[in-house]
Amino acid sequence: MENLLTQSQRDALRRALDGRLLALCFGAGVDSTAMIAALHAAGIEPDVMTFANTGGEKPLSLQHLERVNAVLRGWGWREIHEVQLKPKAQTGYSTLEGNCLKNETLPSLAFGMKSCSIKWKQQPQDNFLKGVTRGPNACAPHPLWLRAQASGQRIVKLIGYDAGKADLRRTASLADSDGTFDFIYPLQFLGWTRLDCVRAIARYLGSHLVPIKSACWFCPASKEWELWWLAAELPELLERALFMERRALTGKHSRFDEVEFGASWEWGRRTPSAERCACSCTRLQAIELGLLLIQQPPDDSSWAMAAPTFTR
Ligand code: SF4
Repeated sequence: MENLLTQSQRDALRRALDGRLLALCFGAGVDSTAMIAALHAAGIEPDVMTFANTGGEKPLSLQHLERVNAVLRGWGWREIHEVQLKPKAQTGYSTLEGNCLKNETLPSLAFGMKSCSIKWKQQPQDNFLKGVTRGPNACAPHPLWLRAQASGQRIVKLIGYDAGKADLRRTASLADSDGTFDFIYPLQFLGWTRLDCVRAIARYLGSHLVPIKSACWFCPASKEWELWWLAAELPELLERALFMERRALTGKHSRFDEVEFGASWEWGRRTPSAERCACSCTRLQAIELGLLLIQQPPDDSSWAMAAPTFTR
């Protein structure tokens, strides 16, 4: 297998990680896949790897998880554990999509908050490590957690933020640790941008293991090209995303009548930064797209609610 790292890169990783208790957070995207390749090239196997499924993962991301696990088995490494939050039965939902539909809202990222990823991504991985004493998520603590408790060491979460401008900006505002875990971003030690990560995966694991962008298929941060991709590749999921949007717009928390909402959409349409706008304006474009695409509305009375009229 081709050597991926220079000696100094390998040394930097080993200096940072040797002797630590390592829990890798796998997102099924380019960055975390490249992080695994780099760690293997440095001879550092994490003690545990987890992937949290929100129930809204793209099928290709789940397929990628299986492929990476096959690679890990071939290396003789531990596999990535897939975990999923189990809400209480009385909530009536079991996925983030169901959560949004039930509450007639969108993932919190649409409103500039992060509780969707905290609840559906971070929490189930933490539960898996720390254990839960009661309720639907009850499980024993992971042996790594028990080791950490017994030795007084802190577990290091390995997170796949890369060395591109966006991720460097993001991590600059993050703490190196919280009350429980330390955080290390191995790709930033290596200086790898996202493009470097793609190249590393192709060279080290094969181009078939370069994954698609991982995110919920209804993520409010979806860029316009992702919506077109979804429309072309998985139109039934686009319809479900549009249904979620429609329900949020017209449901009990509707903000559809607010002037700012339409204004924001108009702003989104007219500025070059629309593609980067991590809010509903991008998704509203999706609705418009969806209304054009869907010739025959689904046989579902809730879909037949008054269609919003978009004016420019
Ligand atoms: S991918 Fe988007 S919608 Fe899904 S948990 Fe993350 S921020 Fe929320």
